[in-house]
Amino acid sequence: MGSIEIIDLTKSNEHEKHCSGGDARRKSLQSCARRRWNGQRVTSVSLDNGDRLEVGIVVNSAGPNAGTVAAIAGLVLPVEPRKRNVFVFEARDKYADMPLLVDPSGIYVRPEGSVYLTCGAEPEEGDGPADPTDFEVDWPLFEEVIWPVLATRIPAFEAIKPTRAWAGHYDYNTLDQNAVIGPHPQVKNFLFANGFSVHGLQQAPAVGKALAELIVHGGYRTVDCSAFGYSRVAEGRAFRELNVI
Ligand SMILES: Cc1cc2nc3c(=O)[nH]c(=O)nc-3n(C[C@H](O)[C@H](O)[C@H](O)COP(=O)(O)OP(=O)(O)OC[C@H]3O[C@@H](n4cnc5c(N)ncnc54)[C@H](O)[C@@H]3O)c2cc1C
Repeated sequence: MGSIEIIDLTKSNEHEKHCSGGDARRKSLQSCARRRWNGQRVTSVSLDNGDRLEVGIVVNSAGPNAGTVAAIAGLVLPVEPRKRNVFVFEARDKYADMPLLVDPSGIYVRPEGSVYLTCGAEPEEGDGPADPTDFEVDWPLFEEVIWPVLATRIPAFEAIKPTRAWAGHYDYNTLDQNAVIGPHPQVKNFLFANGFSVHGLQQAPAVGKALAELIVHGGYRTVDCSAFGYSRVAEGRAFRELNVI
């Protein structure tokens, strides 16, 4: 996991006093960050293997782990891993032209070549941060939750057979299920590209371009991502994405 070093360039002696030594240093860093916002920059990143990288700009692109990485820098980011199980199944009847179908329960299904792919069985109640190391498939979800819903909606899916499955983690923004993009208002060389909450693949090309422009030109040129900026997180002002399944 490593650590991220933030210093107040105007108070480097203070920094030395608070930030020294291994894991204790990480705690000190967080308290440094809280005490001294003005003029702060990330100056280096330490890796688990002991390497220390001097940095001009840091981009947090740690997916579901982004909240933890921000916390290493002493910054608050409401992004946490939420576990989701994806199941592949075979059906006797094929619907090659079947579109993506989203049931009001949140369960969705779509064809994937000669098989089908389904997900969305996790109940809203009790949905919370996952153990970041837990990628065990919760198989009962298929039989007990997904299958009855699919069979009700598409009678031909009464006869289906799951063939494989995997579990992944949503990069879930608990504030508004939307991306956080751009610099931290005080630690200006710490950039966020996080919290996509299930939209990351489709938004990635635009976000990559926007952040590249921000870094190279100092401002957005073709894709204005200001609405996704961190200030709304600081103010607790939601910019809610409703299409989350
Ligand atoms: C089941 C499921 C279905 C989804 N379906 C869709 C969909 O249909 N459409 C869509 O657009 N999106 C979908 N998503 C969401 C999409 O996968 C994510 O939004 C996207 O992958 C986020 O991209 P990213 O590059 O920000 O993070 P990731 O792809 O998660 O990459 C983060 C990287 O950071 C690394 N990392 C983390 N912590 C550290 C650290 N401390 N040090 C070094 N490296 C670190 C990780 O190893 C990883 O390589 C789905 C996600 C899931 C789980």
